[in-house]
Amino acid sequence: MTLQRRAVLEVLLARDDHPTADQVVEDLAARGVSGVSRATVFRALELFAERGIVARVCHPGAAARYEVRTHRHHHLVCDVCGKITDFDDDALSALQLPDLGSGGFRARDFSVHVRGLCADCAREQDHELRNEEP
Ligand SMILES: [Zn+2]
Ligand SMILES: [Zn+2]
Repeated sequence: MTLQRRAVLEVLLARDDHPTADQVVEDLAARGVSGVSRATVFRALELFAERGIVARVCHPGAAARYEVRTHRHHHLVCDVCGKITDFDDDALSALQLPDLGSGGFRARDFSVHVRGLCADCAREQDHELRNEEP
């Protein structure tokens, strides 16, 4: 593994959120690892994802986000600020996928995304609604 790739992995390990490639670039700069382009970071992340070292957390309509894969878990996705929070649920994780083979699709893993408002955004929305009342 190259030094640059190792640095990318270290950044991911140090965060418990789900950073975008841009955020990884910012963290690298903050750590004094300079000269790593966004393209290099992106390629490293995609390589790690292919090898199953990191997971690409899908968030439709937003930049791909990454995390170090530890175990199967699920995500709460805020529709307003895009914040992604992990949650565990044994019943969800044990879900049997339907037979997807007929379409030629090979399932490797899954995670459930629950969309809604994070606590901060929900509070803000409540606040705004209250202020709109006459
Ligand atoms: Zn939010
Ligand atoms: Zn996660």
